Amino acid sequence: MSQISSESQSQFNQELLSFIQSSPTAFHAANSIANQLVAAGFEELDEAAAWNLQAGKRYYIKRNESSIIAFVYGKKDLLETGIRMLGAHTDSPCLKVKPQPELNRKGYLQLGVEVYGGALLSPWFDRDLSLAGRVTFKTSENKIASTLIDFKQAVVSIPSLAIHLDREVNNSRTINPQKDIVPVLLQLGPEQTLAPNFKSILLAQIKQQHPQIDAVSVLDFEISLYDTQAPAIVGFQQDFIASARLDNLLSCFVGLKAILQADDSVSSLLICTDHEEVGSTSCCGAKGPMLQQFLERLIPETETRIRVIERSLMISADNAHGVHPNFIDRHDENHGPILNRGPVVKVNANQRYATTSETSGFFHWLCEQNQVPVQVFVARTDMGCGSTIGPIVASEVGVKTIDVGVPTFAMHSIRETAGVADAYYLYKVATAFYQSLELLNFK
Ligand SMILES: [Zn+2]
Repeated sequence: MSQISSESQSQFNQELLSFIQSSPTAFHAANSIANQLVAAGFEELDEAAAWNLQAGKRYYIKRNESSIIAFVYGKKDLLETGIRMLGAHTDSPCLKVKPQPELNRKGYLQLGVEVYGGALLSPWFDRDLSLAGRVTFKTSENKIASTLIDFKQAVVSIPSLAIHLDREVNNSRTINPQKDIVPVLLQLGPEQTLAPNFKSILLAQIKQQHPQIDAVSVLDFEISLYDTQAPAIVGFQQDFIASARLDNLLSCFVGLKAILQADDSVSSLLICTDHEEVGSTSCCGAKGPMLQQFLERLIPETETRIRVIERSLMISADNAHGVHPNFIDRHDENHGPILNRGPVVKVNANQRYATTSETSGFFHWLCEQNQVPVQVFVARTDMGCGSTIGPIVASEVGVKTIDVGVPTFAMHSIRETAGVADAYYLYKVATAFYQSLELLNFK
């Protein structure tokens, strides 16, 4: 076992695995987060209603059902304490079903798909895939409503082409996303001339999954494919977590568990937004106004709000690239994070990450106070650098920010790998952060 392994760490990881399994899409992730917040006494606020926020209470809002903000309104004066913010994203790269997806070829009903985000496509072949997402429908009273569905079973697959029909595949494989990754849903029987319509399949699923819902026809849908293989602890010594969507449901779960521990003396906020993988520009993305509008409603007076933001700090948590033992040269020789050696501070001179020496110094200090090891990532100088919500939130809201994340292998694959110790390390730091009175308060 990994040296820092403990009862609480393995319990934490088991909960992380079931959280990911119950969250096949961003909609389901926001819903999973909301369920745990409600169970812990957080009250949902309707963004369309007037608010009367009271110190000492706990609230959350959802937008587009796929982004969520949880807020612990501390009893101490916001001007004195600032707000501890932690941000992550609910979405992951995947395949999304097109609006008119039905393709009938040689008696096979296939579904046209789009690629969402920067997905690694090759791992999607030959897997037992399912479908989940949001469906908007009409009721018998001619009202419009939406619900979440999840087929759970393996209902689609994307078979590879046999090597005998493409002898060069191991030397020069390219994947055409329009042509090569069209999933197969079913085979029509010999007498079956009319292929089922995808909306009628969704309607049947609503009726089966939610018998109480009065749905008469499907108006539209946002349905993604996902892998049915359950997340698992793997490796001869059980050193690793293997799962879909570790980027970034791992960080969402860490933030959620940490804010559930936050006491109500100081103010804490968790924001998990959709659409990070496609640039965050949407009504509910980090580049949209969701957080700014929440802060405006919390602190309507501009000068006070700016003063509170100036005293606040955001930890933007999104996974980092662990140095892959087969591809060591893809990392800078002094900055290759190792799995199970602690969270990674992400630095980029060109502001692809929002980390500054002050925010990084604070995070290092917080790790030290909590006996958590910490690593640093900076990309090779001759390679581009990824980005995340950190710089976006920092520039939208003006809050000082640090970009961190646990190291992983195979980011954006259908099955990514993390170390068993790192999510729990980050959770320890995030929990301490939400209770910390020291927010860059070290002049
Ligand atoms: Zn990410």
